[in-house]
Order: sequence, then structure tokens, then C-alpha cells
Amino acid sequence: MCFRPVSVKKRLVRCPKCEEMNPLPLSIESAMSEIMANENGKVILEKYCSVMTGDPRFKQAMNMTLKQARPMSGGKITQEMVDLVTKELAELPVNNVCKSCGEILPI
Ligand SMILES: [Zn+2]
Repeated sequence: MCFRPVSVKKRLVRCPKCEEMNPLPLSIESAMSEIMANENGKVILEKYCSVMTGDPRFKQAMNMTLKQARPMSGGKITQEMVDLVTKELAELPVNNVCKSCGEILPI
């Protein structure tokens, strides 16, 4: 695998009440570092992409999305894996409450 650095914008949503920045729910557009930082996301990524998450060079791909990393993975990440991860991330419970004040976020 050979990854070139790509930066992904942090996906955040501002609380309309207290202006605290909250992370958006995980999706296939999330950087893999974001997914791996989430307990549920980590399980999904490791379930389908252990060939990648177990690779020592995975660190270099952490700031990319899975879709960005796929063409650079030398075939290790397949479209099927991307589809499965997409589906499972979409099924995770969405936390749309501000972590600071409890306001419902406009997600
Ligand atoms: Zn708030």
C-alpha cells in the first residue's frame, strides 16, 4: 500500500444555542481517524477492513476517507468493503444532541 497525504476537512456542526462545535455523525465521508476514534466505528472498520487496519502503514491513511484510500490500497480495499462499511455506519445510532448544553443539533 502506498498512501499520499490527503487532508479531509473536519466534519463539525455548530450548536445553535451555545456555539459549541460538535462532530457530525460518522459516515463514509468521515476521515478514518474519526471512525477509529469512535468505539462503534472502530469495530466496523476492523471487521471489514482488517487487512488495512492491521497494516503498519495504515497510520498514513488515517486522515483520509475509506473511499480516498481505496484506489491507493493496491486492491486491498475493495468496493464491496466500502459498501459494507457505508451501510453499517449509516445504521449506527445518531447522536444529535450538543455535548455541551444538550440542545438538539441541526443535523
Ligand atoms: Zn450547545
